[in-house]
Amino acid sequence: MTALKDILIRRIAQTGPISLADYMAECLLHPEHGYYTTRDPLGAQGDFTTAPEISQMFGELLGLCLAQSWLDQSAPSPFVLAEIGPGRGTLMADILRATRGVPGFHAAMQVHLIEASPTLRAVQNERLAGYEVTWCDQVSDLPEAPLWLIANEFFDALPIRQFTRKGAGWAETQVGLKDGALTLGLATPAPFADLAQRLSDTKDGDVVEICPAAAPIVAEIATRIARGGAAIFIDYGDWRSLGDTFQALEAHESVDPLARPGQADLTAHVDFEALSLAAHASGVVASRMIPQGALLARLGIATRAEALARNLSGAALETHKSAFERLTSPTEMGTLFKALALAPAPALLPPGFDA
Ligand code: SAH
Repeated sequence: MTALKDILIRRIAQTGPISLADYMAECLLHPEHGYYTTRDPLGAQGDFTTAPEISQMFGELLGLCLAQSWLDQSAPSPFVLAEIGPGRGTLMADILRATRGVPGFHAAMQVHLIEASPTLRAVQNERLAGYEVTWCDQVSDLPEAPLWLIANEFFDALPIRQFTRKGAGWAETQVGLKDGALTLGLATPAPFADLAQRLSDTKDGDVVEICPAAAPIVAEIATRIARGGAAIFIDYGDWRSLGDTFQALEAHESVDPLARPGQADLTAHVDFEALSLAAHASGVVASRMIPQGALLARLGIATRAEALARNLSGAALETHKSAFERLTSPTEMGTLFKALALAPAPALLPPGFDA
């Protein structure tokens, strides 16, 4: 049994079942035994891989997209270039390399990484050697300046609460105990004000998820962007949550999320409507949600892929071609992953995004 499983079983035995959000928070970020706190989970040897780890093209195109957006807003100096949940620092490294040639961009930028995991901060520090980088715990720690921010596969790692509709009420999924082992169950149904508007588009038995931490984070980003800047969020998810999307991955395989707390990556699909509503409520514009493949096509991935292919042959060329497919194909990440941008006004949305 993992140490964290033991801790959770004792806690639940003493104080009763916990929400999925509490369970996810403990599993992912427990200071001693949390999944992200204790390891670098990315890459072929890890539990999952992400777009920036698949190909440099992802970060290059998004870097130029952010830089163009900065130019479109009269190139303010200084400005904050930030990433939330930067993993190994690969996306930021590719963004910085691709934007070297943008006049004034590097001189004006203050790079900030918002990262909860000490282990991944160390990896990022190594990856970004040679750049001046500041780490923060949360968005509110960023300095007051125009903000260009990116987040890839960050929101899917935030804890969710899950509810099953029962009549006009909602039964929350909880982690409890059965014969001394962790088990999933449903709490007694009750009305839930936060889901009142979902009574009109769901039926009995439907499952809906909410991510309580997401809206405050988007609001904090939006308040800063209202005074200049833009944000790009890319994640696995869709418009308006429906269905059970809570999942655990270990060594690239789907596993039982209760089996080894702290040893598996836990995620849920991102509800882009919720991100968009939070942005609007804070006075900025959210773009239409666009599939990752379509966004990368608009940003010119085909041209970039061809340019890179010219210097490659053999196995390297095959890897490059398959990376292009993985990022853009509808059967891979191309349509499962979506992107959303925030800006102070519709005309100021970054290239590739529509109001
Ligand atoms: N963006 C990276 C990594 C995605 S994994 C990539 O595309 O490769 C999720 C990242 O979010 C990790 O760096 C993890 O440590 C970080 N993270 C998870 N929860 C967080 C939180 N509450 N605050 C800040 N960072 C968090």
